[in-house]
Amino acid sequence: MDNASALRLTIFLSVFAVMALLEAYKPARKAVLNRKQRWVGNLSMVVIGAVVARLLLPATLLGVSSWAASEGFGLFNSIGSALPFALVVILCVLIQDVVIYWQHRLFHTVPILWRVHKMHHADSHVDTTTGLRFHPIEIALSLCIKAAVVVLLGVPALAIVIFEVALNAFSLFNHANIRLPKKWDKRVSTILVTQRLHRIHHSQAKQYSNTNYGFSVTWWDKLFNSFTSQSRVDDATFEIGQKDIPAEKENAGVLALLKQPFNHKPEGQ
Ligand SMILES: [Zn+2]
Repeated sequence: MDNASALRLTIFLSVFAVMALLEAYKPARKAVLNRKQRWVGNLSMVVIGAVVARLLLPATLLGVSSWAASEGFGLFNSIGSALPFALVVILCVLIQDVVIYWQHRLFHTVPILWRVHKMHHADSHVDTTTGLRFHPIEIALSLCIKAAVVVLLGVPALAIVIFEVALNAFSLFNHANIRLPKKWDKRVSTILVTQRLHRIHHSQAKQYSNTNYGFSVTWWDKLFNSFTSQSRVDDATFEIGQKDIPAEKENAGVLALLKQPFNHKPEGQ
C-alpha cells in the first residue's frame, strides 16, 4: 500500500509539473484572475478532498479490495480464477472508467448533484489545477461509488492502482491550458480526451457542457452519444465557467469554493 501511495504521488507530481510548465510556456487561453488567486483555492480542494477520503474510508479502496478478496466477494473473486489475471485487470480498469463516465454524467443531470459539481465548472479559467478542483462532497460520493464497484466486482488491487493513477494523470492532462497542434489533436483525440475537447465541456453553453464527459478515452462519449468533436466557437475565446459566478477573487477562495453548493440559485437546468 505504501508503494502504491508513493507511485501515485510521484506520477501526480511529475504530470502536474510538466503540465504547469507547458501551460506557463505556451498558454492556450488567457486567465482573468492570476495564478495565486485561483491556485490557492484549487490546490486546497485536493488536500481537503484527500483528508475527507481518508476519514471516510481509512482502509482506502485497496483495503476494501483485499477484504472482498479474502471473503470471496464480488464477480471476479468468484469467477476470476477461470480468467487470466491480466484480462481481469484490463476489464476492471475499463469498467471503473465507464462508471466514472456515468457518475460524471449523473452529476450534470441530477440537480442536487449538479450543485456540487458546479463548483468544478465555476472555475473562471481551465488549467491543470482545475483538474484537482472538486468539492469534498463530490470526492466523498465518488469514493462511495468506487467502493461499491470494488466490492460488487471484486476489483483486484492492481486494477485500482492503475485506474486511480490514470484518472488523476488524465485529469491533470486534459484540464491543462495548452493546445496540441491540430494534426496531433486530431490523432490523439481518436482515443484520448485532449485539452481542446475537454474545454468544450467547460463551456458556459449547456449544449456543449452537457457533452464530453469522459476523462480519459473518447470511446464512452462516442458510444453513449455525448461526444462533441468541434464546437462552433473559437477555442481561445469562448466563455468558460458559470455566468452566475463571475471571475472575481471573492469567488475563488477556499471558503467560497466550499460554500458554493449551498449558495446555489435555481437556474432551470
Ligand atoms: Zn463536468
